Amino acid sequence: MEKVAKKTVQRVKHIPQRTCVGCRTVLSKRQLTRIVRSPDGVQVDQTGKLTGRGAYLHDRRSCWERGLKGALAHALKTELTAEDRERLQAFMETLPEESGELSVDEPLSK
Ligand SMILES: [Zn+2]
Repeated sequence: MEKVAKKTVQRVKHIPQRTCVGCRTVLSKRQLTRIVRSPDGVQVDQTGKLTGRGAYLHDRRSCWERGLKGALAHALKTELTAEDRERLQAFMETLPEESGELSVDEPLSK
């Protein structure tokens, strides 16, 4: 065992950390998208200025899918309406496709 100096050096800039409700990973805020439960429904807060109860999701489709399956509603203590879902799903569509666990062999031409 090595001796570890127990001095906590606070040289690192404080970066706010949030938990992705999809995979429960703690990440810096900039890697996450804020979703807010506003009076107009649950929506993506791209400006970071909307007020309301917020939850965070990674820019990974798998996390969004998990979020839409219930994690988000749970985190926001609400239920997603069909409209909310549509909005969130539309945003999810803009995220890059993932290779790996979610390989969907969809033909690109429709
Ligand atoms: Zn995640």
